[in-house]
Amino acid sequence: MELLMDKKADEDYTIVIGCGRLGANLANTLSDAGGNVLIIDKNKDAFRKLSPSFGGLSITGDATDLDVLQEAQISKASVVVAVSNSDNANIMVAQIARELFHIRRVIARLYDPERECVYGEFGIDTICPAVLSAKEIDKILAETSLSKDSSQEEKQ
Ligand code: AMP
Repeated sequence: MELLMDKKADEDYTIVIGCGRLGANLANTLSDAGGNVLIIDKNKDAFRKLSPSFGGLSITGDATDLDVLQEAQISKASVVVAVSNSDNANIMVAQIARELFHIRRVIARLYDPERECVYGEFGIDTICPAVLSAKEIDKILAETSLSKDSSQEEKQ
């Protein structure tokens, strides 16, 4: 930890919670773009998903545990992205980040669409894979029906 903080103390520092398919991908992308990233997962095998070029740090532990977040020096983070596979854990970490540590940007993944709209007023941005997927499918269907309509018009 010391190394990371000494090296880039004045730069943006992102903490990613959950090194699953989404978290690992995000951490790799941010790191490859030169970002300062620390990733937390409760399962140490999860870090195998990080690419060999990943230049950030990793901590094994439950991110809802305040000691783990303090070890990650959450107070120095500018961004916290909670993308574990537990809505409850993501909400809890997001609220700790906002309320206790006043982190500027907090983003949480929520599987349950019904919980999505509640957190905006607390300064927590949420992404819901089910809602995003539904919108994308709707868009594809709309585009398909538009192109069908125009090809039928051309035939007439
Ligand atoms: P995925 O479903 O592929 O996006 O993976 C989610 C990741 O979140 C898994 O690697 C889990 O081990 C991790 N995870 C779940 N709950 C927690 C938690 N409370 N703290 C840290 N990591 C967690």
